[in-house]
Parts: sequence; structure tokens; C-alpha cells
Amino acid sequence: MSPVPSPADLLSDADIDRFGSAPAQRFAQNLALVQDRIAAACARAGRAPGEVRLLPVTKTVPAPVLRHAFAAGIRDFGENKLQEARDKQAALADLPIRWSIIGHLQTNKVKYLVRFASELHALDSLRLAAELHRRLEALGRDLDVFIQVNTSGEDSKYGLSPEALPAFIDQLTDFPRLRPQGLMTLAILSADQVRVRRCFALLRGLRDAAQARCPGITRLSMGMTSDFEIAIEEGADVVRVGQAIFGPRPKSAGAFWPGLDDV
Ligand SMILES: *Cc1c(COP(=O)(O)O)cnc(C)c1O
Repeated sequence: MSPVPSPADLLSDADIDRFGSAPAQRFAQNLALVQDRIAAACARAGRAPGEVRLLPVTKTVPAPVLRHAFAAGIRDFGENKLQEARDKQAALADLPIRWSIIGHLQTNKVKYLVRFASELHALDSLRLAAELHRRLEALGRDLDVFIQVNTSGEDSKYGLSPEALPAFIDQLTDFPRLRPQGLMTLAILSADQVRVRRCFALLRGLRDAAQARCPGITRLSMGMTSDFEIAIEEGADVVRVGQAIFGPRPKSAGAFWPGLDDV
């Protein structure tokens, strides 16, 4: 950030109400706390803390506030709505940010995604894969993708069923512009840790089996504010954490971003 705040850095009264007047400091503190919790979970699981990547989830955080997140050292921004991500990317185009799309994507939004996103954590259909490949091919670029699996069996969740995964992976070879990195899931939203853990363990087993079909599928994107420590104990390589860094999302968020997941 430049020493003299530009209008783009100024927080609205509503932003200050939600994030405080010095959000960079708060975000840096929260980030350090989350990193400590990641390190502790890694230690419990006998893993090295550097093995787990933290992907901060910036959905519903307005662009001017995200300049403060950048000042706090955050470079990877995870967004679940393409339109919202696209607007923020345009507003923050002067900053070297890596944009990760982590939510379900409609095929008619693919043309926007391929222009700025560095990865997609929510690949959930062959139709989407085909459209991504076609648009990437036109731009001469590749895209890192995680295949989303519905490990909880809930109707409200996107993702392939575990049964559909092997055939899906075999067909991905038709779309070489996609670089499969691993699998992604959202665990069941439940206070019962046993049920949450079961979702993560299922994804790990699916990953182990998938590697024989596609050696690139090595990583597990799983775990959010409410469950990232369990996810790490079950083998997460990427945790997607929003509220523990940026504070609780407003209840009304769904009204501004229709279709906001129940997460
Ligand atoms: C919002 C979201 C997260 C992060 O949730 P928090 O509760 O803010 O940590 C993770 N993954 C996906 C797909 C999300 O939409």
C-alpha cells in the first residue's frame, strides 16, 4: 500500500463497523493464531506444519478491506462466487493476488474465470471441464483444479458422488488444459465431530484410490473455520479458512450474494 491512502483504500462506515478501523493489524493477528492452530494440528498428526497450505477465504469481504488483508501479508484469496471475485479482481488489479475459485461454477461464467483465476477447487462436472478446457485452450493457458466430491451425501452440497469419481477422473484426460491437483470437499455441517471426520477420511481414501488412475491427484483441499484441525488430522493439504481470519460473516450475506452456500 502506498503511504498516502488513496480513495480505494478508504473504508466505509459499514466496513469499519464490521472490521474495525485498523483491519490489517487484526487480520495479521488472526492469521498468526490460525497458523499456530495449524501447527498444533500438524504436530498432533505427526506432520510438518509447512505441509499444509492456508487458503484465506475472502468472500463477502469488500475490496477496500481486502487491501488491508494484502497489507497483512495475504496473497491468496479464495472466493466462492465468480461475479464477486471478478468485481474484486478488477478493483484490486494493481496488486499481485492469486485468486482461487472455491465454489460451484456455472458454465456461462467460465469465460470470466479463465482470465484471472489461478485455480478452481470446485470442478464437479464433465460439462464444466469441457468448457474450461475450451476457453483455456483459446487463451493458451492451463488451470490447476481440485475435483469436488460430495462426501456427506447431503442434497444441498455440490460435488461428484464417490461412486462417480473413478470414471470422471478417467475422462479428464480429454481436457489436458486442466491440471488435476487433488480432491476437495465440504464436510457435513454438524456438531458431531465423528460425522465431520468421516467425510474427511472418506476423501482421503478416495484420493489414495484415485492416484492409481491419475498420479497428479495428490492433494486434499478440506477444512474450514469450524473443522480445519480435524481436516489436518485426516490429511488435508489445503485448508480454506475465512471467518477465523476475517471475523463472522453477516447473516444477511445471502441477500447480497444470492445462492451463498449454507457454509
Ligand atoms: C466459505 C467457504 C469456506 C470458508 O468458510 P469459513 O467458515 O469462513 O472458514 C471454505 N470453503 C468453501 C467452499 C466456502 O464457500
